[in-house]
Amino acid sequence: MWPLPLKQILGVHSKTTNIAIYGEFGRVPLRVKILAQIVKFLYRPQLECKNENLTKFYQALTIEYSGKRFADIWSFIDNLKVDAQPPQSRHTVDSYTKKLKETFTDNLIDVWEKEINRFPKLEIYSMVKECFQCAPYLINNCDFKSRQALSRLRTSSHNLRIEVGRYLGQRRDQRICTICQNGDYEDEFHFIMKCSEYKEIRDGTFKKLDNCICMNGPTVLMRK
Ligand SMILES: [Zn+2]
Repeated sequence: MWPLPLKQILGVHSKTTNIAIYGEFGRVPLRVKILAQIVKFLYRPQLECKNENLTKFYQALTIEYSGKRFADIWSFIDNLKVDAQPPQSRHTVDSYTKKLKETFTDNLIDVWEKEINRFPKLEIYSMVKECFQCAPYLINNCDFKSRQALSRLRTSSHNLRIEVGRYLGQRRDQRICTICQNGDYEDEFHFIMKCSEYKEIRDGTFKKLDNCICMNGPTVLMRK
């Protein structure tokens, strides 16, 4: 899927890092599907078509697509090292493209795992996200505002000083909380657990959480 509609569903900023957005939904970029469609286009028509003129037309197209102009696509497919022979009959086109999609998806997930640990902006995200699958808070019934608040915190799509300072080119030790003036960095931990200005809200929220645990047992909070 394109990342922008996913960002709109979460209610995060349009510049939020794409890899965090794909990870939240457990969805791979649309280019996986596009590549599979290209491969189907290249193989299936010439294998299935019984009309002579159409066959010539498809062959001409295939030559066009097989030539230098599309060398990048073929080179990309070669580099994926799909563990399957290219289709020799129309019956094997689907199984080949399925294998190609799986291989491409596995490669992208490998890159995703490395990238979320590499970007300083995704420090929190790499701590809360354990694997490439749709986050449960997106599946459970959750109103837009609550979902948005969680998404913004998880993907660092917020206006805390730790992020704003990054855009302003400030050093980390300069990104001080301007709300409580305690001299602490305003990062996600300070905002949720420490900032004295939010103490009342925090105490009320923790009380509600305590009641929730008493009523439903701890497992309701242990779900990832
Ligand atoms: Zn503060």
